[in-house]
Amino acid sequence: MSHKATLFEKLEKNIVRCCACAHRCKIAPGDRGICGVRENVSGELYLLVYGKASAFNIDPIEKKPLNHFLPGTKILSLGTVGCNFKCDFCQNWQISQASKGVGKKIIGSDLPPEEVVAIAKKYKIPSVAYTYNEPAVFSEYAHDIAVLAQKEGIKNVYVTNGYLTLESRKYILPYLDAANIDLKSLDEDFYQRICGAKLKPVLETIEDFFANGVHIELTTLIVPEENDNEKNLLDIARYIVKLDKNIPWHISRFFPHHKMDDLEMTEIQSLELARDIGRKAGLINIYIGNV
Ligand code: SF4
Repeated sequence: MSHKATLFEKLEKNIVRCCACAHRCKIAPGDRGICGVRENVSGELYLLVYGKASAFNIDPIEKKPLNHFLPGTKILSLGTVGCNFKCDFCQNWQISQASKGVGKKIIGSDLPPEEVVAIAKKYKIPSVAYTYNEPAVFSEYAHDIAVLAQKEGIKNVYVTNGYLTLESRKYILPYLDAANIDLKSLDEDFYQRICGAKLKPVLETIEDFFANGVHIELTTLIVPEENDNEKNLLDIARYIVKLDKNIPWHISRFFPHHKMDDLEMTEIQSLELARDIGRKAGLINIYIGNV
């Protein structure tokens, strides 16, 4: 289902600029942005995955992972295809990268916002997660579900890489209750080389969500020889402590995937080292995941 986007501006010669994520793609008529799900149709931007879920499940909320928000409950989880990152280690690359390439068919099942909320109500599920792929790329779909969910007293959760703009944060913040945000590294080079993105917008999203009272938990996937050095881990831990030492930090194990299928999985000792570094830095809530 294609749906006119909200988060864009019109430029000259029917070109549009998408402002759903910090790439701020300039898109010519007939083209799509980096994520492959936002297309310029005759000078208007359209979201190609509106109401089209590529994955839809009921998960334990701890799987998001969120350990300090509605613990012990289930969460209705959905995602579409497409992502604004190109992480070589992506664990969900079959859906995150599925929309990329000229004229790529958009896959997914019809799932309008009303139906998502009706299902949550029917099964008495207290929250909805926008997850599996990056919700910023399907901002308008997530937003419209979130508005309806909030009216029914259902909480909204983003599981995000944090690459949002001020506009996309303002758009979702009134309806957002919690978020798990990836903080993959505090090294700019890592974000540019591995993810095709920049670090600064991620930090801005973390700080903005936190300042606006969204419950946040952070996740770092520990990739051997890429972001597992002590300096980087200490930098991350100190950054979180500076915000609030009670913010949960999820240290997640890497398994060989996608373009990094020749690497070994993260050794348990590396995860324990990260946990110890976090504790020494002063973090209170540290969880090792994916083990
Ligand atoms: S959401 Fe997609 S089209 Fe929009 S700026 Fe990000 S990558 Fe580009």
